[in-house]
Amino acid sequence: MNTKNSNLIKEVDRRRTFAIISHPDAGKTTLTEKLLLFGGAIRLAGSVKSRRAQNHAVSDWMEIEKQRGISVTSSVLQFEYNNCCINILDTPGHQDFSEDTFRTLMAADSAVMVIDCAKGIEAQTKKLFHVCKMRGIPIFTFINKMDRMGKDPFELIEELEQVLDIKSYPMNWPIGNGRDFKGVYDREKNLINLFGEGNHGQSKTRTEKLNIEDSSLSSLLGDELHSQLKEDIELLDVAGDSFDLDEVLKGNLTPVFFGSALTNFGVEPFLESFLELTTPPTPRDSNLGMVDPKKENFTGFIFKIQANMNPTHRDRIAFLRICSGEFKKGMSVNHVQENKKIRLSQPQQFLSQERVVVETAYPGDIIGIHDPGIFKIGDSLCEDNSKIQYHGIPLFAPEHFCKVFTKNALKRKQFIKGINQLSEEGTIQVYKQPNIGVEELIIGVVGALQFEVLEYRLKNEYGVDIIMESLPYQYIRWINGEGFSPDSLNLTMDSLLVEDQDLNPVVLFINEWSISRVAERNESISLKEISLRNK
Ligand code: GDP
Repeated sequence: MNTKNSNLIKEVDRRRTFAIISHPDAGKTTLTEKLLLFGGAIRLAGSVKSRRAQNHAVSDWMEIEKQRGISVTSSVLQFEYNNCCINILDTPGHQDFSEDTFRTLMAADSAVMVIDCAKGIEAQTKKLFHVCKMRGIPIFTFINKMDRMGKDPFELIEELEQVLDIKSYPMNWPIGNGRDFKGVYDREKNLINLFGEGNHGQSKTRTEKLNIEDSSLSSLLGDELHSQLKEDIELLDVAGDSFDLDEVLKGNLTPVFFGSALTNFGVEPFLESFLELTTPPTPRDSNLGMVDPKKENFTGFIFKIQANMNPTHRDRIAFLRICSGEFKKGMSVNHVQENKKIRLSQPQQFLSQERVVVETAYPGDIIGIHDPGIFKIGDSLCEDNSKIQYHGIPLFAPEHFCKVFTKNALKRKQFIKGINQLSEEGTIQVYKQPNIGVEELIIGVVGALQFEVLEYRLKNEYGVDIIMESLPYQYIRWINGEGFSPDSLNLTMDSLLVEDQDLNPVVLFINEWSISRVAERNESISLKEISLRNK
């Protein structure tokens, strides 16, 4: 093995690239801040994202970018901890929630699911979880806000199984609840970590560690909590799922950690355990079979395109996930889909809160490449001439739909150009009704904010004013079925058959009831929430 390759192997093995998934307000930002704090990336846990972004006036796209501030540049955060190089991928929530949030998960090797202990599993967590499950990546659960009154921990564990259909293994177990929260029992080390408010989570806190059999424990916890703890642990050992690392790595079993990000309780043990159990970058599937990250040929794919990061230039940044080989600044690569050579001269990386020009990067890392409008979501780059293409990024189900027209018919050409560009960047999905004389476009988006982005960018970049007519649909299903013909489809009155941008048949629905009716009436077809492309 040459030294170049041994360096690559070392760098791959120490990479951990993951996304934190949660419903808004569960504590994703707070947990991210604390992880950065342990990595030494920030001394005092400051605000990772600008909170003003949560209630901005959404009429001005530039303004959106300005207000988003760090939120945009912190799409990926890299930091070091215990000789691991960690990449956290941000999955925007609140009004920022969009298809990008789902697509980001395609670039992650594992996921951390943050759950509010009082609320349990919420809608957005569920959606993001399903994408992780589809990819079969390891999912770790952090049940947050244990300093507050929450649901019974057994109930939370059961919810994982009932709502998400995943087995779980509590790595630690809470003692007491809310005001009486005393700490957690670490099942592997057979130790109690006592909860102390510390200095309000502003820096690292110390936790005392005591054995479960320790005689002083009864007086510390009280007899009742101590015996309750022993009972709970016995029940978990007897009736709970057992730990199996293979199952964790396949995404069938989630290790569960209880803690409190705000008060910094349980965060460091979680981080250590997570880094040990989760996977470094693994081989990825392509048109030429599985590609080993430790192969010297540099390859990667684009999973996100961010427009107008710098308002003074109308530039775009394409986010590339490196899948194999070493990246070097200035290297020439093949843009596989366009069959063109390009030079990667000013790539950027996202280190804690700054963007810096990156000299070298490795599998698992995300780099930002200047995009003069040549990239599409899902494009592959490859150093040698092997033309490796990673499987395309799927289309995820939009939840908001409208008909879009240009106000001025003479601007039709620019309108179509803008719509195509925004569709390739992944901001919108475009549908057409088959066999309809006048061409009418239906636009679908995952987050409603994208409509405002569409309107603003068409006006500012293409000089096109549009009219949007909102449609009542909320669900979309791609149709698969042997010998299926769209004409034979038996739909409900309130659903609509359209074609997506790849001319695949899809149906738009107003409610879930209609979906089940259509499924019943057309037994030979299957209705899918996600469309896998280029497969
Ligand atoms: P995000 O929307 O998931 O990024 O959530 P944030 O990290 O912004 O947290 C939402 C709110 O919950 C904020 O007011 C946090 O201070 C609070 N919070 C986060 N973690 C904890 C915790 O462990 N305990 C308590 N009591 N509050 C928390």
